[in-house]
Amino acid sequence: MKNLNRTHPEEDLDPDDWEAMRALGHRMVDDVMDHLRTLRDGPVWRHAPPEVKSSFQGPPPEGPEPPEDVYEEYIGKVRPYQLGNQHPRFWGWVAGSGTVMGMFAEMLASSTDAVSGSFSYMANNYVEMQVLDWCKALLGYPSGSSGLITSGCSSSNLIGLAVARNAMAGYDIRESGMQGASQRMTIYCSDEAHSSVQKAVELLGLGSGALRRVPVNDSLEMDTDALETMVRDDRRAGLKPICIVGAAGTTNTAAIDDLNTIADICAAEKCWFHVDGAFGAWAAIAPEYGHLVSGMERADSLAFDLHKWMYLSYPIGCILIRNPEDHRNAFSLTPTYLAHGEGDRGLTGVDVPWLSDYGFELSRGFSALKAWMTFREQGLDKYRRLITQNIDQARYLGNLVEESPDLELALPVSLNIVNFRYVRTGVSDGKLDELNKRIEVELQEQGTAVPSTVTIRGTKYLHVAITNHRSRYEDFDLLVREVTRIGSGLV
Ligand SMILES: *Cc1c(COP(=O)(O)O)cnc(C)c1O
Repeated sequence: MKNLNRTHPEEDLDPDDWEAMRALGHRMVDDVMDHLRTLRDGPVWRHAPPEVKSSFQGPPPEGPEPPEDVYEEYIGKVRPYQLGNQHPRFWGWVAGSGTVMGMFAEMLASSTDAVSGSFSYMANNYVEMQVLDWCKALLGYPSGSSGLITSGCSSSNLIGLAVARNAMAGYDIRESGMQGASQRMTIYCSDEAHSSVQKAVELLGLGSGALRRVPVNDSLEMDTDALETMVRDDRRAGLKPICIVGAAGTTNTAAIDDLNTIADICAAEKCWFHVDGAFGAWAAIAPEYGHLVSGMERADSLAFDLHKWMYLSYPIGCILIRNPEDHRNAFSLTPTYLAHGEGDRGLTGVDVPWLSDYGFELSRGFSALKAWMTFREQGLDKYRRLITQNIDQARYLGNLVEESPDLELALPVSLNIVNFRYVRTGVSDGKLDELNKRIEVELQEQGTAVPSTVTIRGTKYLHVAITNHRSRYEDFDLLVREVTRIGSGLV
């Protein structure tokens, strides 16, 4: 055989010393378990000092470093400076808090380096299909619907609205694009809808001007009378209303639109009904509170995530589409190198659709595994109790605020989000806005708690979103005490 020109010995990326790497892996597991077990003892959040920030500069690493050293760098410079959303007193924005089993599942998922979604011949896709089936059953959505595990609700909203647009356009939009539209299409959502809805509308080529913002009522829910008028006026003006987006829990206040009325309007006006239920959809599983999201099950597409209120580690979301054919029509595209049939009887002979026909991604991770393993480990009854616990905690905090002469609620607590502010008679609203912003910053800097702030009807409030399985009632007592103490020290 001809002597090929091999200038280097052959190499790979596996450990040089498997036993040393195994020991490092064990150490990582031990460290992580200690860290998670003692979260409550540490600050919720801390600043990365300048020397840490500046250490992330420099050229690419040309040579190797000992794996132990690389890990030490992570422990010293990355792990301490997180958002803090695993901590029992993190309630900023709307963020989940992760599970131990979910963390292990992520390691297992990457240990098989799964390319989930396509290649229906692997068990991963049976897992994903089962997680989708569980979501349908839990949320009361039809079992014959189709779905996909996504990276979050932004992605779910994009997929749902893409299916909506294509199904409602009335022409072959995949061929002609928006340029083939003879009428301008319009989509409706409330003033309080999440920014990802607008991003999706922009990405789909409709333009943000096509997203009609419907005013809200005193509870910050969509004013459905105004919605009806807007749809009819637009139609009269020659536009083509195609879709109405209902919110099952807005980010600011957890407001839930009147989903049944919106579903009725969609039926009457021949519009697609999309629900953004990012976190709020999961109120459906709380026995005493499920009625709050009634009507959600009538949606043509239902977007939600599992990394906020279902507490799984980031990222994982889901989209469900009532009519699987609409879903496939929007995304199925099969080049010869990926040739397959629907329900292809592949290597293992089990029928599972190629999930790449249900979204825009081909290669995907195996996020479904962390849901599958955590739900089984915990049982969904536990989840029902946890969702209920968070809503009860929000009501408890709402009561504490109402009982305090120094604090004021923005509006009655509807679900799991409490917005309130520190008040003092004789201090102007402008000053109070500043004061509450400083209270937020103080709480964060001290590491005591992390709320965020939101502006509701022009006034700044502390925003406490309870999607945290580690929070306890006493944590809310502490929050109220600290807000009052810091507030009175700042006046
Ligand atoms: C967080 C959120 C989203 C976006 O979800 P991601 O998972 O962060 O992409 C959409 N809608 C609402 C109401 C949200 O709260």
